Amino acid sequence: MVFSGVPAWEQRWHPLREEWVVVAAHRQDRPWQGERATVSPAPAPEYVDSCYFCPRNLRVSGERNPDYQSVFVFDNDHPCVGPSAPQLLDRPTGIYRNAPATGVSRVVCYSPKHNTTLAELPVGEIAALVGTWRDQYVELGARPEVRHVLTFENKGEVVGVSNPHPHGQIFATNFVFKTIETEAEVSSRHYRDHGRSLFQDIIRAEQDDGRRILFENSSAIVFLPYFARYAYECFVAPKETHPSLATMSAAEIHDLAAALKLLLVRYDNLWQLSFPYVLTLHQAPTDGEDHSGFHFHLECYPPLRKPNLLKYLAGPEVGGGNFLSDTRPEAKAEELRAVSEVHYKAQHA
Ligand SMILES: [Zn+2]
Ligand SMILES: [Zn+2]
Repeated sequence: MVFSGVPAWEQRWHPLREEWVVVAAHRQDRPWQGERATVSPAPAPEYVDSCYFCPRNLRVSGERNPDYQSVFVFDNDHPCVGPSAPQLLDRPTGIYRNAPATGVSRVVCYSPKHNTTLAELPVGEIAALVGTWRDQYVELGARPEVRHVLTFENKGEVVGVSNPHPHGQIFATNFVFKTIETEAEVSSRHYRDHGRSLFQDIIRAEQDDGRRILFENSSAIVFLPYFARYAYECFVAPKETHPSLATMSAAEIHDLAAALKLLLVRYDNLWQLSFPYVLTLHQAPTDGEDHSGFHFHLECYPPLRKPNLLKYLAGPEVGGGNFLSDTRPEAKAEELRAVSEVHYKAQHA
């Protein structure tokens, strides 16, 4: 649909990544004959005896999970980075270089209940999880070899998760992940040049427009950004600038948990299915540099652009490195704003 005065396609500047996003919403309804993703509802019991994450079960490492009642953290049994990474590596040829993949990789189980999701947890339990994320960032970030702590959740089979038990992961690494490195550089420069956090300016621009804001409480905000690369991409953030969770008050953590829950409930309610996504926490690097201008936030990337239809990364994204969005952020935000704040499973209960 083309609105009067609204161009059918345009470039939008992504200020955190410093790159263009091409918005070409007129392409959304083009005929599609490709593959479709399937999202199975997969109702499961509360406890599954073959699940590595359920309480009291044995993991592949031979360790037994405790009879945990809320959040449970353990070292990943299949780490991508770890303290026992091989130190003696083959020297590559020519200009190539390598380094041991040292660090810490952990799994965070959100709940002992196998068949729940983050969206369905009460706000108090989500706040407890956010508190655990904070404690992990502080503990792992304090290690001299750890330059960055990346906390994330991959949810759903379409993003490669085979075990539905609600959980996320933490990678504490000896390098800073690329997106956070860029955000830290851009935020520092903006802070130096303008004396304000870049993210504060993003929040202000969203508030001045208003169409893409999904939720606000006294200290947290949820919006589908002007520069979104994915159809239903959303940011959740405290309104005050905190470089990480470490400096946030209990009240701010509670507000953030409420904001996150509201977003995830609306995702599930949109098509009445358990919405797949990649959720990442963007916290300042723990590399000893000054990150005063860095504004902690969460970014959520659902891969679907329609029910059972994935956004595929192709020529522009993989080949060129810039995103082509088939949807207008204002239209997608309007869809999310229109759905109920009560989870559909609770409505039918
Ligand atoms: Zn389980
Ligand atoms: Zn970010």
